[in-house]
Amino acid sequence: MPTILVTNDDGYFSDGLKALRDSLKSLGRVVVVAPDRNLSGVGHSLTFTEPLRMRRIEEDFYAVIGGTPADCIHLGYRVILGEVKPDIVCSGINQGPNLAEDITYSGTVSGAMEGRIIGVPSVAFSAFGREDFLFEDMAKVCRDIVDKLLLRGLPEDTYLNVNIPNLRYEEIKGVKITRQGKRAYKEKVFKYLDPHGKPLYWIAAEEFGWQAEEGTDYWAVMNGYVSITPLHLDMTNYRATEDIRYLEY
Ligand code: MN
Repeated sequence: MPTILVTNDDGYFSDGLKALRDSLKSLGRVVVVAPDRNLSGVGHSLTFTEPLRMRRIEEDFYAVIGGTPADCIHLGYRVILGEVKPDIVCSGINQGPNLAEDITYSGTVSGAMEGRIIGVPSVAFSAFGREDFLFEDMAKVCRDIVDKLLLRGLPEDTYLNVNIPNLRYEEIKGVKITRQGKRAYKEKVFKYLDPHGKPLYWIAAEEFGWQAEEGTDYWAVMNGYVSITPLHLDMTNYRATEDIRYLEY
C-alpha cells in the first residue's frame, strides 16, 4: 500500500487539507503533517533558529507548532515515517490559486518542493477561486492525478504545480499541461495607525490578475481546465549562461 505524505500552508484545520486527505485515503496510507496556523506566503523557509514541537491530532494526523510546510515535510519524513520515503508528497488544497510568480511566495508549492528535495515525486494543489470552495469536487481531481502519478511517476528533479478551477467535478473541462505565466497585479502597502498613533503597515494585493497568454497556468484555469505546470529544483537559467559569459576570466 503506498504511503502519501500530505501538508499545506493554510494550517491543519483547513477544509482543503481535510478534503485532500479524505479523497486520497482510497489510494493508500495518508499521513498528514501540517502547520498549526495559516502560513500562506511563507515560501520555502525552514526553521533553524527555534525548536519545533509536534502535536498528534488523531491517527496519522499531526500539527507542527510553529512549523512551516517545509518543516512539516522534514519532520513527517524523518520522525513520523522514520526515514522511510513516502511514495508521493502532496501539498494543499490551498485556499486560492498559486499561478505565475505566486509560486515563489507559496508555502503550498514549497511543501511539494521539499518533497522533491527529499527525493520523492511531489505535487502542490491549489484552488482557483476566492470563496465558496468546492473542495470535495477538487479533491476528486487531486485523487485522479495522484492515482496516475503513483502508477507512472515523474522524471527526476520534477515536481508539479496544479491549479484546479473551483467548479463541480463534472464541469471541469479537462487537464492541460502548462507553463508558468506572468502576474499582472502589484502588492500595495496599506498604512494604518495603532492606538498610540504610530504607523502600521500591511502588504496586500489590491486586486488579482494574471496575463492570459495561451499555454500558461492562468489561461488554463480561466478556461475551466486543470493546470499542471512541471517545475524543477535546478533554477539555473541555461539560456542565459552564454549571455553572461563575458563576466568570466
Ligand atoms: Mn495558503
